[in-house]
Amino acid sequence: MRVLIAGCAGFIGYHFTERCVDEGLEVVGVDNLATGQNANVEHLHRHEQFAFAQQSITQPLKSEGPLAGRFDWVCNFACPASPVDFKSKRLDILEVCSRGTWNLLELARRQNARFLQTSTSEVYGDPKEHPQKETYWGHVNPIGPRSCYDEGKRFAEALTVAYRDELGVETRIVRIFNTYGPRMRSDDGRALPNFINQALDNQPITIHGDGKQTRSFCFVSDLVEGIIRLVRSDVRDPVNIGNPVEVTIGQIAREVVELAGSRSEIVFVERPTDDPQVRRPDITRAQTLLKWKPIVERRDGLALTIEWFRQARASDRAARG
Ligand code: UDP
Repeated sequence: MRVLIAGCAGFIGYHFTERCVDEGLEVVGVDNLATGQNANVEHLHRHEQFAFAQQSITQPLKSEGPLAGRFDWVCNFACPASPVDFKSKRLDILEVCSRGTWNLLELARRQNARFLQTSTSEVYGDPKEHPQKETYWGHVNPIGPRSCYDEGKRFAEALTVAYRDELGVETRIVRIFNTYGPRMRSDDGRALPNFINQALDNQPITIHGDGKQTRSFCFVSDLVEGIIRLVRSDVRDPVNIGNPVEVTIGQIAREVVELAGSRSEIVFVERPTDDPQVRRPDITRAQTLLKWKPIVERRDGLALTIEWFRQARASDRAARG
């Protein structure tokens, strides 16, 4: 089995690549390292069955070097995905979701490969249905500050089902909800990396708004298990993968402070526009069709993540001398 994984240097792409390699699959990772981390690629290079091609998926994928030969699966994890990127990389995000996804789908069609599109809970926008089922169409502002990502991912889903229905490509779509764990990008502006860094520095924890908005955080190993099951299954409709345990942002901030043994206080700052108020996956489809549900408790996952940040920061400091 040979697998192409676009976005292998990103947080989730990295963990999915590790899992595939651990299962004995041969993996070619593709990443332009715009938001992916070189350290992740270096870590993957310790596996013999891993090869790397540094390029953007917005350029055609030429059948040369590591990209020569046929792939059984083409998996698309490539896309800047953090709120910081929504400010400075709007056009890049739209191009990756459109032209980039198109290039990968074309490759999958030519090679008769199975195609995986990683979509997102952001396709539901600021949802009016709660929890979110896959049948919900969403509530998205097409011209808002998050629209590059939300609409980009919605377009990518439309493109994927068009290739499925018109051109007969075997496609899978996973809608990923908030995920956390080791190797999250430290400076990507998301709640957990921010809170963990602030707690470890004993600096104020910056809660946007009153902290009553909710999210449902899934540990990355649970997510990867769900995605692997989906790719291997015959489920061709989108599937939510996420942890249905919902928590307020205020609550998770307090948990991080406690687990990090921090003296940080909590401060309330301005809330970004169009920030979704609630988010929780309905995972009935994954439970029924994939026999999947998350197993990592939040406290355990948070403790592991905090410890990883602590060690990564110590190695960074040592490297800087
Ligand atoms: N958030 C926060 N403080 C921060 C970063 C984020 O209160 O320093 C809030 C953010 O406004 C949102 C929630 O935490 O309501 C989750 O944000 P994140 O960026 O992690 O994920 P997303 O909004 O994409 O679900």
